[in-house]
Amino acid sequence: MDLQHWLRQAAQSNQEWTADFGPYQTHPSLDIEDGRFAEVFEEFTERLKDNYPFFHPRYAGQMLKPPHPAAVVGYVTAMLINPNNHALDGGPATARMEREVMQQLAGMFGFTTHLGHLTTSGTMANLEALFVARELHPGRGVAYSAEAHYTHSRMCGVLGIEGHAVPVDGRGRIDLDALEDLLRTGRVGTVVLTAGTTGLGAIDPIHEALALREKYGVRIHIDAAYGGFFTLLAGADGPAGLAEAPWRAIAQCDSVVVDPHKHGLQPYGCGAVLFADPDVGRFYLHDSPYTYFTSTELHLGEISLECSRAGAAAAALWLTFQLLPPTPDGLGTVLAAGRRAALQWSQLIDSSDFLTLYQAPELDIVSYFPVTEPAALSAIDQASARVLQHGMTEPDPVFLSTLRADARAFAARHPGVTADAEGARLLRSVLMKPESERYVTHLHARLEKLV
Ligand SMILES: *Cc1c(COP(=O)(O)O)cnc(C)c1O
Repeated sequence: MDLQHWLRQAAQSNQEWTADFGPYQTHPSLDIEDGRFAEVFEEFTERLKDNYPFFHPRYAGQMLKPPHPAAVVGYVTAMLINPNNHALDGGPATARMEREVMQQLAGMFGFTTHLGHLTTSGTMANLEALFVARELHPGRGVAYSAEAHYTHSRMCGVLGIEGHAVPVDGRGRIDLDALEDLLRTGRVGTVVLTAGTTGLGAIDPIHEALALREKYGVRIHIDAAYGGFFTLLAGADGPAGLAEAPWRAIAQCDSVVVDPHKHGLQPYGCGAVLFADPDVGRFYLHDSPYTYFTSTELHLGEISLECSRAGAAAAALWLTFQLLPPTPDGLGTVLAAGRRAALQWSQLIDSSDFLTLYQAPELDIVSYFPVTEPAALSAIDQASARVLQHGMTEPDPVFLSTLRADARAFAARHPGVTADAEGARLLRSVLMKPESERYVTHLHARLEKLV
């Protein structure tokens, strides 16, 4: 699709719609002369050049990439109207689009019933899930793995509940024995399991943890902010396919969070939370003199901690899902390419004399470190930092990220490395652009030279 053409169409469709309401005078206080705008715009675009090239496969660092052009056009077109999905009256069209995309996301996870909505981020979505968890289990805490997203402990603080970090195994997954020891104390009301940790993409054994729910009367919340869309590869044929069990088990959990602004091709400002039991909506009841509801249809503002929310975010996701639905043949093909890229690169690293694989990629995150002499944590740490820095500044640049691993985590994977420090930085590449598949041989050759 031709982005420039459709951006013009966005402006035109808005003009046609607004013209229907008849002429009116715009106010001179808002007038800006084109010449003046041009000057400021030039400075503005110049300043924006101070960014890493997230769009290019040579950027193989954090979870960052531009949205799909369909999402951009959807966002801009709706933003020209600027509906507020707080209430149906704030934007009936985008509120209905939001309900439809939530239905699609619920279907993707296999939820047969659901209540859910979009949020501005995964952090806010997790906060909502933990808020409901607290209301249902007052006085009991929340358990999550030591590799869970850092915002879980922060939000437990915000909610005034006790957070418990549970140790992980040698692949970064929650240790179920340690979890069960904690559950025996009766202090925990909710377990957060991560389907794709932010650092390494590790998938907690959700299917095995389900038995603990009945045994200890706890809720299970799944944080799939980053990994959620990988459920589309569960049980798929070919190298990109993932073991089905943990992904299928999500359908039996109490709530799940996924970030369309990570793997759903959306601009920032798009997270989502889903509850299996629609009845939890009762915890959001509120009454205020300035919100007004004109129908008995479900108002998303009634089931959200946030008030104003961009209708444009729902519009962008709806338009994207019409074209690339959250199905194995739709968005699944995009994720599969990134997963294949990660597997291909990890094989190259595995047979390299210059790089060592930290652990096999669970999803589309590759973790690795330079071969050093001696093979010790302090040397690895310095070499990783040097490759990161030189990669960005030398010609034919590559943009990576680092991940800090403590000595215990390192020893679990690489017992031969001397632990002469508390931990070390290693290199980490999230291959979330399907274009990476055609680029990993180049990335690898470049890195071998940098080491
Ligand atoms: C990114 C991420 C979050 C936080 O989401 P934001 O959208 O950045 O607020 C939470 N959990 C996991 C597993 C994540 O990867």
